[in-house]
Amino acid sequence: MRNRLAETIAEKGIHDEAVLMAVRSIPRHIFVDTALENRAYDDRALPIGCGQTISQPYTVAAQTQLLEIKKGDKVLEIGTGSGYQASILCHMGADVYSVERHEELYHKAREILQELGYRPTLKLGDGTKGWSAYAPYDGIVVTAGAPVVPDDLIKQLNIGGRLVVPVGSKESQMMVRITRVSEDSYEEEQLQQFKFVPLIGEKGWD
Ligand code: SAH
Repeated sequence: MRNRLAETIAEKGIHDEAVLMAVRSIPRHIFVDTALENRAYDDRALPIGCGQTISQPYTVAAQTQLLEIKKGDKVLEIGTGSGYQASILCHMGADVYSVERHEELYHKAREILQELGYRPTLKLGDGTKGWSAYAPYDGIVVTAGAPVVPDDLIKQLNIGGRLVVPVGSKESQMMVRITRVSEDSYEEEQLQQFKFVPLIGEKGWD
């Protein structure tokens, strides 16, 4: 089922072999409720409690591909949720930091990731201001929809680092990639429309 899921997302445009390998390797059904297990390898988002969702596999893969991860890269994720995206990043050899604002999800993700043998550094809190203690990052991925690009995240990028963030209304967002080209210059690309749950916090939605 995992191989088939990887094929499906490859057909939709995911060509990064490391991302596809991670999708083939990680048991997504462990990250969802037992009642939803039989749908875990469909290419769709599923509820994970607290009104949140585990993102659609294609979306996870698309964001990860845009990050252009190399082994050993330091990556910050905002919105741990189920922990699935964090496990993909860990599997690809990244040094992963992830922030979640819902306590219940934070604990659940921590448990599952540990069980699977992944060791990201997790934090409970508002990720809209990033995580300055471990900055700068080679990659930052926001897995919830932001009203604007959170400026603190841009500041926490390494030179050459990439920020991947969906920006727009609560109903639909444009995937934006910002690359820090030098100390004070950035390149911005607007890629494709998506629909995420809202990024809630000081530099997000109320
Ligand atoms: N990456 C997750 C996707 C979860 S959905 C996965 O693979 O399952 C997005 C998550 O972002 C939700 O769990 C939501 O609670 C969280 N979130 C929203 N605003 C946040 C904020 N300001 N800081 C941290 N997490 C946030």
